[in-house]
Amino acid sequence: MKFALVDNKKKEAEKGLKGLCPICQQPVIAKCGKYKINHWAHKSLKHCDSWWENETEWHRQWKNTFPVEWQEIVAIDENSGEKHIADIKTNGDMVVEFQHSNISEEERISRENFYRNMIWIVDGTRRKRDFSHFKEAFLYNSIWLASQNDPLYVLETDFSYLPKEWLNSRVPVLFDFKGLLDKNEKEYDRDSLREPLWCLLPGGGNNIKVLCKFNRKTLVELIQGGGIIFNYDVINNTINQAIQYRNLRRRYGYY
Ligand SMILES: [Zn+2]
Repeated sequence: MKFALVDNKKKEAEKGLKGLCPICQQPVIAKCGKYKINHWAHKSLKHCDSWWENETEWHRQWKNTFPVEWQEIVAIDENSGEKHIADIKTNGDMVVEFQHSNISEEERISRENFYRNMIWIVDGTRRKRDFSHFKEAFLYNSIWLASQNDPLYVLETDFSYLPKEWLNSRVPVLFDFKGLLDKNEKEYDRDSLREPLWCLLPGGGNNIKVLCKFNRKTLVELIQGGGIIFNYDVINNTINQAIQYRNLRRRYGYY
């Protein structure tokens, strides 16, 4: 955790500082070492929030893009009393979860059900092949631009180009294929597909997935402005028209 309660205030870990966990109220210790980012850890190894993942630099960088008051917010289910820490919760009550580690479908679903109004931002660099697959989809025209507005892209039939654990999400999933710069990597070596965030929209049916491309800065501004709202009716109409037009062109021999 980035924050613990010290004298009832959210504080970042500093050497020697002691605090309480905002979820279970148990003592936590400040860990300020050389190799890991500064964080708070429970005295016992088991963390009270089973959904908690150890933060990577990537995770922390994303979190720090947003105001401190929105970071690590305790969310409680009124019926069950279940508590979890949301990475970011905006003024508009939208939750943003950053996911680096592997996640089971079961856990993904329970988190989506718990937070409801949420989006995922997923580290697309954890497995190297995820980005190369994604890139192939563009090379083979399996992902194609359906509308310049927004802009929207379509992926048809073969979904193996996308990380499979996210395919059936019922909330928007944004893939970040940029990750952190490798020591040996130069900025200009970077692929242009890595720079934007690729948002897989929920729904789309059995044969189609829709992706919306976001400029990073714009996305952050949108979230800071309260959240992102997609008009799925308009999106579906646009996509259907684009596919019809594409099919027509194909029928007359234009590709
Ligand atoms: Zn705890």
